[in-house]
Amino acid sequence: MIDLHTHSTVSDGSDPPERVVELAVEAGCSALALTDHDSLAGVGPARHRAAELGITLVSGCEVSCLPVGPGGMHVLVYFVEEDGGPLAEELGRLRRDRRRRNLALADRLIALGLPVTYDRVAALAGGEEGMGRPHFAAALVEVGAAESIDDAFARYLGNDGPAYVAKARLTGPDIAALARESDGVAVLAHPYSMGLEGPDLARVVGGLAESGFGGIEAVYGRYSPRQRTELGHLARRFDLVATGGSDHHGTSKPDLSVGTGQGDLKVPDKVVGLLEARRPSR
Ligand code: AMP
Ligand code: FE
Ligand code: FE
Ligand code: ZN
Repeated sequence: MIDLHTHSTVSDGSDPPERVVELAVEAGCSALALTDHDSLAGVGPARHRAAELGITLVSGCEVSCLPVGPGGMHVLVYFVEEDGGPLAEELGRLRRDRRRRNLALADRLIALGLPVTYDRVAALAGGEEGMGRPHFAAALVEVGAAESIDDAFARYLGNDGPAYVAKARLTGPDIAALARESDGVAVLAHPYSMGLEGPDLARVVGGLAESGFGGIEAVYGRYSPRQRTELGHLARRFDLVATGGSDHHGTSKPDLSVGTGQGDLKVPDKVVGLLEARRPSR
């Protein structure tokens, strides 16, 4: 089995890249993709550890796109390296804009009278790199302004919340084009997060396939067997690779383990080869 969706301390995960690789080996995975938000910085260290332990490391990242429905759209991109051209350069721009957004968000919290500082949030995030709303949520919990991470989003940080500040985002087709220019493959992450179902979901997935997507994340840590089956049908219908992964983050999502998700995840080894065959150079 394999896991094509994991996060490390490079973004909002709690395990260093090397540790995520070790967890994949312990779970019995033959291949692992590290897919930190907006960054490929963990891929090098993870690949080094993967070579030592004899497991395949697939480079990856996860990018939040402009939504097309009531929920958010996340895209996973595979096979792009840190020095890998147009997509990597765009990730640099997105990270700089994330920093601008984080500074504005901190100002918003101060204006709301909440005792949370930018520096404290950066400390909780282990540095400014990869810092985001989940770390602001942890800081709000720490000072007692929220009961839990989810409560912090519900009260302040969610997309309709008083502390919400937007950050720059591209469309799904933009990401697919950048991925292809970088010899990578774009995959729609956790499709139900978009808040669409039935014909609406199918229409959007069909459009993304048309725009150059190579896969759809059908086997996701938190999806039911029925949902995984429906997404598998969509993958076949639009000639997309049905991929899968846990979305392991460590302590912030303790129910999602590398390789096994909530215990019932099993993504077949062959998916790596199927996905690689979608690279423009193949
Ligand atoms: P950011 O990229 O800094 O805007 O933060 C986005 C991250 O916040 C996502 O990856 C989610 O893990 C988390 N997130 C977004 N909305 C919620 C929510 N309503 N409840 C809990 N976590 C959320
Ligand atoms: Fe995350
Ligand atoms: Fe995501
Ligand atoms: Zn993720």
